[in-house]
Amino acid sequence: MLSVDQAWGLLKQHAAPLSAEEVSTLDANGLCLAETVTSPIDSPPFDKSMVDGYAVIAGDTGLHRAVVEEVVAGQTPSRLVAPGEAVRIMTGAPMPKGADAVVKREDTDESDPAFVGMLDCKPKPGKCVMHRGAAFQSGETLLQPPKKLGPADLALLTEIGRVSVRVVPRPKAALLPTGDELVPFDQAPAPGQIRNSNGPMLTALLADLRVPTENLGIGRDDPEDLARRIEEGLQRDVLILSGGVSAGDKDLVPDILESLGVRKVLHKVRVKPGKPIWFGVREKEGRRSLVFGLPGNPVSAFVAFHLFVRPMLSAVSGEVFQTPMTQPIALAKEVSHKGPRPTYQPAIVRRDAPQATVEVLPWVGSADLSTLSRANALAALPAGDYRLRASELVEILPLC
Ligand code: AMP
Ligand code: MG
Repeated sequence: MLSVDQAWGLLKQHAAPLSAEEVSTLDANGLCLAETVTSPIDSPPFDKSMVDGYAVIAGDTGLHRAVVEEVVAGQTPSRLVAPGEAVRIMTGAPMPKGADAVVKREDTDESDPAFVGMLDCKPKPGKCVMHRGAAFQSGETLLQPPKKLGPADLALLTEIGRVSVRVVPRPKAALLPTGDELVPFDQAPAPGQIRNSNGPMLTALLADLRVPTENLGIGRDDPEDLARRIEEGLQRDVLILSGGVSAGDKDLVPDILESLGVRKVLHKVRVKPGKPIWFGVREKEGRRSLVFGLPGNPVSAFVAFHLFVRPMLSAVSGEVFQTPMTQPIALAKEVSHKGPRPTYQPAIVRRDAPQATVEVLPWVGSADLSTLSRANALAALPAGDYRLRASELVEILPLC
């Protein structure tokens, strides 16, 4: 059986970004850049005052200067500042010609509107002035792929007048929970039935990643029904199924996927929970679809999503393929582990004490949603039979 590292290695081989698209800069938040952005302007575009005050000649020595003009942001000064003169200037306004420093209002005496008194009469040249091109200059490279654009990048793009930008789009996903026992969550289950909780959970996980998702209903454990719904899901970039991928009589999903031309890349990973995970790829008529078959048990599906689906969705969105980020945290209580599979167990990280600690939660396995819902992290416990004492370190994967 594949190790988690081997599974990541295989996923990485299939982690190609989607084709780039031009989108409005306003819609680019959270998307990865697919072009190198150079600036067509100097920033700032003119020498400007960084404070509210008086533009003066730095070398001038007079204690009182004649106020010859007033200029606010958005205006352009018309007067040249000569020795003995000052221009009243507000933050962001262009510097008047002749002046080379600004004295802050707080350092002046404004009691006479016609003349300003200089309390700071020896400003250094350039004081409180931001020179044209000080931040960046025309022709300079500002942003490069695979940078993931955030609010500050959108501000930068708009500053330089970019109304649209080339990015890798978000993948479009389809979701198909399967199982004869499942009823929609808003219906009462008959004997032997349970509510479909994977559907809403996976929908929420995908929404957190802002991946638009089409819900394909609940697939029955019936080859024709499954094949029809799966074919519909294969029209999207990523199809995520749950259930039907382990070794039971009704675990039909792997065979149906392969009969529809989805090439298996991996099936079963040495991990707990999440072992039955299936992943494959279909390339048909120019469309590439990635397919994840997640285990049916909700905690397994949740862990498999975090370990395998999430890194793949990020990579398809243009990010470098990265395994989930973990960090070492000291155990609050001792914990023991048994078995040949590494375990990703629900845990609570507390950061209110001077040193963060983690409590690995006792659980009753991969259907135990109440323990998962109390957790804010998964503790990555390595394979093997051992006991770890309180204050020993374990790697944790934060969930929020
Ligand atoms: P399977 O992987 O189909 O063998 O399912 C494993 C276990 O997960 C069974 O107990 C199923 O009833 C349960 N299960 C499967 N799908 C779901 C779902 N969508 N929501 C909640 N439990 C499920
Ligand atoms: Mg099933």
